[in-house]
Amino acid sequence: MSIVPAANMLRTTVSDDSCADSAAKPNCERPFAVSWQRELAAAIRNPAVLRQRLGLPINAEFASKTNAFPLLVPDSFLQRMMRGDESDPLLLQVLPSAEEAVLRSGFVSDPVGDENARKAPGILQKYRGRALLIAAGACAVHCRYCFRREFPYGNEPRRIEDWQPAIDCLTADTSISEVILSGGDPLMLTDTRLRELCQKLDAIPHIERIRFHTRLPIVLPSRVTDEFLQLLANFRSQAVMVVHANHGNEIVGDCEAALRQIVKTGIPVMNQAVLLRRINDNVEALELLCRRLINIGVMPYYLHQLDRVNGTAHFEVNTQLGLELVKQLATRLPGYAIPKFVQEIAGEPGKTTIGFL
Ligand SMILES: *Cc1c(COP(=O)(O)O)cnc(C)c1O
Ligand code: SF4
Repeated sequence: MSIVPAANMLRTTVSDDSCADSAAKPNCERPFAVSWQRELAAAIRNPAVLRQRLGLPINAEFASKTNAFPLLVPDSFLQRMMRGDESDPLLLQVLPSAEEAVLRSGFVSDPVGDENARKAPGILQKYRGRALLIAAGACAVHCRYCFRREFPYGNEPRRIEDWQPAIDCLTADTSISEVILSGGDPLMLTDTRLRELCQKLDAIPHIERIRFHTRLPIVLPSRVTDEFLQLLANFRSQAVMVVHANHGNEIVGDCEAALRQIVKTGIPVMNQAVLLRRINDNVEALELLCRRLINIGVMPYYLHQLDRVNGTAHFEVNTQLGLELVKQLATRLPGYAIPKFVQEIAGEPGKTTIGFL
């Protein structure tokens, strides 16, 4: 993949026109009439402001630094960080660091072979029966370890009519039984837009499941609107939700409440985490995460070995240590609480399980 211009990276604004919901509610006039959109518009984008809000000394080096993948963190997520703690596990996930500029061999722009998996505009397919839709190019948070931090989102469909070639492609391929809405984050779409897209997918007879891969219930729990919950409950096909949290401290307060609401709809809800140095690379942290998840009915699904994308080497945990941690975890929690420790290897027909070869 070639060098990606900054404009093509994750966009930080709501990725469809924010008036879409106003159209559905004639008496709503303000552009950010929906509270989660207001919260997102007010998200912190300046490292100095973030440090100040946490009572941390302002580090001059980063106060003024511009970055192609800038800091982005909603207030709800910030509220779950410990004041004055430089190594808070939530803070470390979002705070830009000088180490990101360090080039390391083996760390590349597209470690998981996304470019070769493009089946149609907006669709990646690597695995049998499952197609992944790049439903939105934006996220509500910028995770420093993101495996798609260099993904060229600018090339993917944006308007609803731009999705027609993707819909046609899915309709023509009867081997596809599951569509995964991913991104970016599919919940960055407004409820109106999301419903339009899902209705098109749900109308394809051979689609049996619609899966959401999203971090918004974790970082911006107000996104879990009544309208969204209703949408989930009313598909012909089976809805499946996979959220993304890495530390137990994320699963509290408004996030916990939002997850409980999703669980209440009756659809399967699972979590995928990434094994991250200094964040969850100890058995206590993993135990807390998995325990808090199962206590609200969210099943640990995957623990991912880091994808080796440029600028993320400082997050990598040795695979052997990861395996050891998962083994220890299995001595502390019920079998159903243990995530599968996996790695994505470009060209493989599924995620590769580490340690049970
Ligand atoms: C990870 C991934 C999936 C989902 O894999 P599961 O093992 O079914 O969770 C599907 N498509 C792509 C392109 C992926 O990277
Ligand atoms: S939410 Fe997911 S896609 Fe978005 S920045 Fe974080 S890891 Fe990347």
